[in-house]
Amino acid sequence: MQFAKLDDSPMFRKQLHALEESAEALRERCQRFYKGCRKYTDGLGEAYDGDIAFANALETFGGGHDDPISVAVGGPVMTRFTIALREIGTYKEVLRSQVEHMLNDRLTQFVSTDLQDVKELRKRFDKASLHYDQVREKFLSLKKDAKPEIVVGFEEDLRNAKSQFEQTRFNLMTALSNIEAKKKFEFLEAVSGSMDAHLRYFKQGYELLHQMEPYIHQVLTYAQQSRERANSEQVLLADRMQEYRRQMERDNQRSFSSNDVTPAGDGIQAAARSSHKMIEAVMQSTPRGKVQTIKQGYILKRSSNLRGDWKRRFFVLDSRGMLYYYRKQWGKPTDDKTIAHHTVNLLTSTIKVDAEQSDLRFCFRIISPSKTLTLQAENAIDRMDWMDKITGVIASLLNNQIPEQRPYRSPMGLHQRTGSETSTLSASSEYDGSEDTVASRAHPSGSRRDHNPRRGPKPQERPVDILQRVPGNGVCADCGASDPDWASLNLGILLCIECSGVHRNLSVQISKVRSLTLDVRVWEPSVLGYFLSVGNTYANTIWEELLPPDSRAAEDAGVRGSIDERNGSLRDVRVKPKPNDPIAIKEKFIHAKYVEKRFVRKLKVQSGAPPMARQIWDAVSSNKLQLVLRLLITGDANANTTFEQAMGASESSRSPLVSLAGALSRKGSVSQSTRSNWSGPLLPTSQTPSRPRSAASSPLRGYDLLEGPSSNEAAIADTKDLQGCNLLHIACQIGDLSLVELLLQHGAQIEATDSLGRTPLHHCVLKGKNLCAKLLLTRGSKPRAPDITGKTPLEIAVEKGASADEELFYMLSEPNR
Ligand SMILES: [Zn+2]
Repeated sequence: MQFAKLDDSPMFRKQLHALEESAEALRERCQRFYKGCRKYTDGLGEAYDGDIAFANALETFGGGHDDPISVAVGGPVMTRFTIALREIGTYKEVLRSQVEHMLNDRLTQFVSTDLQDVKELRKRFDKASLHYDQVREKFLSLKKDAKPEIVVGFEEDLRNAKSQFEQTRFNLMTALSNIEAKKKFEFLEAVSGSMDAHLRYFKQGYELLHQMEPYIHQVLTYAQQSRERANSEQVLLADRMQEYRRQMERDNQRSFSSNDVTPAGDGIQAAARSSHKMIEAVMQSTPRGKVQTIKQGYILKRSSNLRGDWKRRFFVLDSRGMLYYYRKQWGKPTDDKTIAHHTVNLLTSTIKVDAEQSDLRFCFRIISPSKTLTLQAENAIDRMDWMDKITGVIASLLNNQIPEQRPYRSPMGLHQRTGSETSTLSASSEYDGSEDTVASRAHPSGSRRDHNPRRGPKPQERPVDILQRVPGNGVCADCGASDPDWASLNLGILLCIECSGVHRNLSVQISKVRSLTLDVRVWEPSVLGYFLSVGNTYANTIWEELLPPDSRAAEDAGVRGSIDERNGSLRDVRVKPKPNDPIAIKEKFIHAKYVEKRFVRKLKVQSGAPPMARQIWDAVSSNKLQLVLRLLITGDANANTTFEQAMGASESSRSPLVSLAGALSRKGSVSQSTRSNWSGPLLPTSQTPSRPRSAASSPLRGYDLLEGPSSNEAAIADTKDLQGCNLLHIACQIGDLSLVELLLQHGAQIEATDSLGRTPLHHCVLKGKNLCAKLLLTRGSKPRAPDITGKTPLEIAVEKGASADEELFYMLSEPNR
């Protein structure tokens, strides 16, 4: 109990002084303590940031549910752990704020208010004390003869000064005793409150993790099992490698001891016969749909080009009786589509030892009616083994002709023989010599190829890399987000993942969404070619032509800043969204753009201009892919426009030859002599100076695309018969995969027939457009559809000796088509 007596006395003053000193010492102590507390709470805050960063990193690393790496490292498990870690982070944040409040805030309060008060009050007390001393001194120095009114005045002063003095003295006492009192509970409360917060923090953390405990153990057990499995697989692999090495040593010894012998000895033939039985057994016993490899390995193959150079190729002989080789080694993981096969029809082949025009050792040949493969094994034993096994397979095939197992592979494979599709493409048709890949083939758009026929990406590029280089494709067509890796197949544009989600909700007639990286099978050369010819920039010149040009300027000027972004309905739909805009805004814009076609400038056919049917016919005939696309969208042109529709009566007055053509087509039968006249203005060749389309009245004069010659016109200049043909027939005659793809994407009927009952597939086969034929077959065209004379595409191919392209032949003859 402080202040046993309340009188002012030296003892009292001493006690006061002692208490003040103790308060001052406490202040210093508090400040040091506060520093420590501050450090601790700051640390907790940083730890929380660390927790969240860790959780985020874990989520990014393995929390995905559909990307393969995440799934491999246990995506769903990681997600669950991520959630728990975030929760623990939250507990930590709660702890920090409690310590902050209970400890730090109270300490601050104590130092800055309670202890500060003592100092203030001491100053006032000193002042009052001094004043009291002075007044008292004056009072006491009054003489005895002082006037009574002066004495009264001094007494009054003295009373006041004393009262003031006592007041400040008590105030100081109160403040000091307050501190003495607070010492006893303030810190205990603050610290034990913080300890309690810690208790709750650990309790919550424990409960959370305790609940997860069985799960964590389950995962650990699973990981342990996986580790054991992996270990035994490793051991197995090491064993197999050991065995392989031993086998190789044995083979080496054998091959060097026997050197270059011909497999003609009796013993060898006997061995061959027995192995033939084994091969036949393998081929018979392998269940349908499954394939066993009979032999595989590297063989040198001589190119059939003039250089006749040798290339090392990986050959596979399998239980279906297929012999095929891979064009090149691929470093990246692949599937059937990305490795091209070249099959050899063993059924009609014979095998001969040694090579013509070569004095190299270990050679042999596989001779079929269409071509001869000249091969060189790496040693004599290997040659003997290959020849033996291939012979065995041939024998087995001849014994059991199973037509439905005829080999055809990767119908639109990336590296298959190109045939003679168009003049430029045929330049690279020697498939041994050229190392062309997808893109240079898939570059068939007329305008592009005119400029740089061989321009194309490097080999082994992924579709996403190839397509992102097309003008405008570096950003999403709808919101401008960078590096889009989704696409709309029919629109020919690239999209970010968010916009692709919006597109997916539109009907497939409007947009067909595919992934550039995940849907690898979609990206056939024809599709790539179509995309390379369109691109986001060009597509948006159509789809966003009427978009106010200042929509971007408006953004920059902050016009949008005044609009409530959370409420998409307030946003002007005529402003192109930004990557970070809410999805509702993108949705509205995309809907207006593609469903309502609000920014498309509708093409009105003006009087005197060719009708829409004629315009699109001409665009297809001259292989102007971009123009075709524009007419389909802006003019609602029909993808199934026929020759008759294109050359309707309105055109008759424009050109005598055209009207002749129109008349002929209406009559229904054309004599051979009149047909030959058609190569004039109707389908102008590059030598024809006047082109009906360049008439001054053409409403399309503004488009550059119409100007300049097109190399593709020549391709159909010798067309003999156009009656009943539609756009797809013409595209097939031209043989441009991209153009065919464009028409198919826009609803062209694949089985439409011309007046002779011929489908587009008939036209492809007749014209030798093998790649187009394969494209149509993969899209469901029927190889057995008869024309009016009863001829099917298959029969035409047989007549034409289409075995030059075995793959096409097999596709045509497959019974399920
Ligand atoms: Zn987007």
